[in-house]
Amino acid sequence: MTGIYDGHIHTPYCPHGSADSLSEYIERAIQLGYRGMTFTEHAPLPEGFTDPVPENDSAMEMSRLPAYLDELTSLKKYYSSALTLNIGLEVDYIEGWENETRAFLNEFGPRLDDAILSVHFLKQNEHYYCLDYSETMFGEIAAVFGSTAQVHSSYYRTLAQSITSDLGTYKPRRIGHMTLVNKFQALYPTEASFERDIQGILTLFKTHGLELDYNGAGLSKPFCKEPYPPDKVVEEAVKQGIPLVFGSDAHSVKGLGQGLDSLIHTESLSVPLFLNRGE
Ligand SMILES: [Zn+2]
Ligand SMILES: [Zn+2]
Repeated sequence: MTGIYDGHIHTPYCPHGSADSLSEYIERAIQLGYRGMTFTEHAPLPEGFTDPVPENDSAMEMSRLPAYLDELTSLKKYYSSALTLNIGLEVDYIEGWENETRAFLNEFGPRLDDAILSVHFLKQNEHYYCLDYSETMFGEIAAVFGSTAQVHSSYYRTLAQSITSDLGTYKPRRIGHMTLVNKFQALYPTEASFERDIQGILTLFKTHGLELDYNGAGLSKPFCKEPYPPDKVVEEAVKQGIPLVFGSDAHSVKGLGQGLDSLIHTESLSVPLFLNRGE
């Protein structure tokens, strides 16, 4: 995997991840022959938004953000001769919290090189649900939404909104794991086809000039067993000239490079178009 750029990596600042240190990640990345990487910790959730998962651990605490940025800034310098290290965040798109998210990005965006925008939370009747927390919770969501197919529709609708929403100058340029709704597909299959929704999303990628997080994590999820997105969607994205950036979505050092062996079109993988281009 020489020359790989990994644009989706978590850190010890993640409350649901591992305690592996940032330098352990970087040393391992160098060993794997990475040419570069972006650390994309889950950005703090907007103040006042209640994390729908029981442990309240979906994202980094706001109080830790300055230390995260400072530590990465010094490591970026320290390792600059070995590989390109970029400072990023995985920002949640939360329907109804666009103003808060834009304000957050306006404040911290200038300190970022790169970022991902992801949908993990779905809104229904003024409540929010976390899509990828557990198979049990997914089942509960399907019951609330009426069916598994309804969860998929809601997910793709929210994903489309994330792409078209105005999150300001520092809006992330890459969309995270665009088929995350498939995480528990073996347990919650659906007969319905979402090809049209996905095709629509790819068109939006094109018109908004966005990159696709070609995310290997789904392959190691026992009820998913395919990357986000699966091969067919990647084929189509490549045909349309949408830039793909590999993402291991590693939450531990061991997860670096995950899924890479099974991905297709690795020759089409690119490096992110950084937010702070020209710097
Ligand atoms: Zn995570
Ligand atoms: Zn994510």
